[in-house]
This record gives sequence, C-alpha cells and structure tokens, in this order.
Amino acid sequence: MVNKLQRAFITLVCFAAIAASAPLSAAEVIAQGTILTRSVDGLTLTLGLSAPAPFKVYTLDNPRRLLVDLGDTALAGMPSGMAAGVPEVTALRYGLFQLGQARIVLDLSAPMAISSALASGTGNGAQITIELAPISADDFAAASVDNPAALWRSEQLSATIEGTDGLPLIVIDPGHGGLDNGAVQSEIAEKDIVLQIAKTLREVLLEDGRFRVLLTRESDVFVPLGERVEIARRAGARAFISLHADVVTLGRARGTTVFSLSEAGESQQAVTIATLENRSDLVAGISVEGEDDQLTQVLLQLAHRETDALSNRFADVMAETLWFQNESEIKSRRMAGGFRVLRAPDIPSLLIELGFMSDKTDLEKLQNPEWQVAMSETLRDGLRRWLVVEDDMRGLLRN
Ligand SMILES: [Zn+2]
Repeated sequence: MVNKLQRAFITLVCFAAIAASAPLSAAEVIAQGTILTRSVDGLTLTLGLSAPAPFKVYTLDNPRRLLVDLGDTALAGMPSGMAAGVPEVTALRYGLFQLGQARIVLDLSAPMAISSALASGTGNGAQITIELAPISADDFAAASVDNPAALWRSEQLSATIEGTDGLPLIVIDPGHGGLDNGAVQSEIAEKDIVLQIAKTLREVLLEDGRFRVLLTRESDVFVPLGERVEIARRAGARAFISLHADVVTLGRARGTTVFSLSEAGESQQAVTIATLENRSDLVAGISVEGEDDQLTQVLLQLAHRETDALSNRFADVMAETLWFQNESEIKSRRMAGGFRVLRAPDIPSLLIELGFMSDKTDLEKLQNPEWQVAMSETLRDGLRRWLVVEDDMRGLLRN
C-alpha cells in the first residue's frame, strides 16, 4: 500500500513533469495562505492564490472525496503535509488533470458537507475558503453530484414571475451572488446591496401595476452569466436589467451609469467595468470555454444587430430619466461595453451601475433604504417612458 507521503511525492513528480511542458498559468497557489484546519465544527480548506481563478468545489461518493477544480492555476506552491494531523482526510493530492485545469482531491474518511465555499479578493491576490461540516452518509450521497455542472443551476428553477398576465415582463438581474461577492468595500458586498435594490425595484414595479417582474436570483446564490440571460429568454422577457454597484480602482467613478452592449467603440472605463463584470463566472468556477469561439461571435453579432438598436434606445431613455429625476449631484451617464450578461440576442438589455462602492457618498446612498426606493421609482419611470417610446415606434412602423 502506498502511504500518504509516498502518494504526495508521486503526485508531485507527475505534476512537475506536466508543468514543465505546460504554458504559464494565470494564477498560482501560494503556500503561505494555503492551509487545512480543523475545528469542532469541521474542516476549513483555505487556498491562497496570486490572482482570482475559476474554481469548482463538489463532493463525490464511493469513495468519498472533496474535489476542488481550478482553472488555469499552478499548484506548485501547495504546501506539503497539509493533511497531517487531520484524521478526516486520509489523503490529499493535486495536479493537472487536463491542460489548463488543476484539481485538488481530498479523500475523506467521514461524510462531510460543503457548508460554504467563498472566493474573495485580497490586496494583491485572491483567496478561496471552503468549509466542511460532518453529515450523515445518506446526506453525503444526496449532496454529491454526478454532474458538477448541474451544481450551479438547481436553485434557479424555482424562480417565479409575479404580476398580472399579459403585462410586459421585466427581468431584474441582481449582479453576482453566492461564490461571487462582486465588489467588497468596508465589508459590504455588492451582491447583497444589489439584491436588496432588486427586491425594492420589484416591489415598486408590481405596485405600479404596469409590469410583471422576475428576478434572476432571489437569494445569495451564484448564477452563471449565461444562465441569467437564459432565464430572461425562457420567461419571454420584454426587457432585462442587470444591477451592479462596483468598486473602480482606475480613475474616479461615482453616480449612476447606464450601459448597453457594444462590441465596438467602448470607452476605456466601459472596458474596465465590463472586464470586472465578466469575471463573475471565472470567480465562481464556470468554464467560459467555447463562448468566444469565432462562430459563436459571428452568430452573436448577427443576432445583436437588431437588438442593439433596441437596447440603445432603452439605455438612452433610462439614462435621460435618471439624469432629469435624480438629485442634481448624481451623474447619470450612458456607456457601451462588451458585457456577457447583456448578450440576449432578442431582449433589450441594460447593465446599470447604480453607484460605485468605491465612492464614499455613493456607498452611503446605496445602503440607504430611502435612496433605494427613490432609485427604484426613477427606474420605474424610465421603464414607463421606454414602453411609450417603443409603442410609438411600433405605431410608426405599422403606418
Ligand atoms: Zn458588479
């Protein structure tokens, strides 16, 4: 039988051999921040990373294992002997299992559930914290997945449309969620703020009586960007609004900004923000493979040509409404960027940065329930105006 030390050694040898010929990885595990600890509540696996990396964490039964899949991450920095003194983990191994994909496997001697898995940015890198708590063998079997990809979809199936039949359906998309905190400023997470505002906006729109509303997420769960668009399409949305409140490190940004999708002519700031938002899937471990292959791009561009005009009109009306109705110091701007979440080929879509958490005044407002209601009412007014504009356009086309 191979003992723990030998096995770790064998794995390391294999890894080194592959690493020698593999291209440089985007992120690497840093020994200092990487540790497996034990408490009365269970186990905590912390991975220190030099940069954010896509990751997936799940359990498999027969034999019982915890798997952490990391995209584009070098594992050479994994400290040795991590599982020493942890009886719940009989072996810990890691390495590349396909090009560009690394995997860490913990063999478990007892059934344990993933009670939380969080990715967070640190000063100049990132950290993944996975907590495990003891459960029954049956619960472990039930929680373990056959198809890891299914992990991310399950909770969204319960999303419900509210409002009277026949009214235009507005899909509100609170950005980030679950594994993906979005921006974090003074321990306040963007994912929580935008969920609060999304719920307020839903209330305001339902009260208005002119709309039906669907949220892409109702709680602190992760939803892949593509899935958010799919939810809107499946539900037959008339419009899609993604809500955000980011931290911008490049230059100063404050106030509300309305973005629509554009593949060309993006401003530098729009590019920066688009990159930030598109990272969501990466942070939470969804593969973006295939998304950018050329055929997809061409098809997307063709499908978008028509919706672009619709989305641009939507963005113009919304930005105008924000401009006129909000307190004068709020600057509402209109920008275009390459956001993956705005790529529904047939639904006018906007991404609204409600404010920037990196700005002190904005951060206060974003958390203020009164401001949240006022902002929701302005967005409602924008939607009302937009519907009128759209109906006029249809009338013109008919005549
Ligand atoms: Zn965001």
